[in-house]
Amino acid sequence: MAIEYFDDEEAGEYGGAPSVEVKTYSEDGRGSLDELYTEYLRLADEHGWEMETVFCQRDDIEDGALILPVFSFRTKRHGPALWIVSGIHGDEPEGPMALVEVLDRIGALGNTIPMVVVPLYNPKGYRRNSDSQSRLQQNEDVLKEYVLRRSDTHPPQMTLNIHGDMSGIPLEKRIAAHRAVLQTLPELWKRAQQRGGTPPWREGKGTSVVTDVPRGGGLM
Ligand SMILES: [Zn+2]
Repeated sequence: MAIEYFDDEEAGEYGGAPSVEVKTYSEDGRGSLDELYTEYLRLADEHGWEMETVFCQRDDIEDGALILPVFSFRTKRHGPALWIVSGIHGDEPEGPMALVEVLDRIGALGNTIPMVVVPLYNPKGYRRNSDSQSRLQQNEDVLKEYVLRRSDTHPPQMTLNIHGDMSGIPLEKRIAAHRAVLQTLPELWKRAQQRGGTPPWREGKGTSVVTDVPRGGGLM
């Protein structure tokens, strides 16, 4: 649905449903790209958020390529916003999957807090379980441009940049750790307001929260 496919002969002509099965690395039990996209799109379809494509990743496969969109969802409510960026590194599936588990909570939170959510920033890496380091620099530049462009309506006041470095721990537990952090968002946001957080380029007081949960941390 969200993934487009073209074969070599139609290269450059995006469109049509994929005619190939899109396989996602599954040895660690992660959800497929299709499953993730289907869930994320509910932020737009069921919670009324605005959706846009930040950019697309080309993922070459045999006899053709997949075009994988990187979606961003934002609330209709404008103002200093809570940003969530997840799935930058393809071998860290816990963030993208934890977001699925708390999707409806986040959707509801958007009724009171301006928010932007980029749930899966590196779908190609996720699909392949690789972080595609060489491509990431370019992608990070695209992200910076996007943040600046979107900051006219949703300037980031607090950013949750979800990573993970818990290889060796079952994915289910890693997801649970991030889910726990995500569930504290209303409280984290409230505290950021009390501190009078402002966008970092104005006064250097922006709040950045990275949900790298230390190995064996208290949330396990
Ligand atoms: Zn990471």
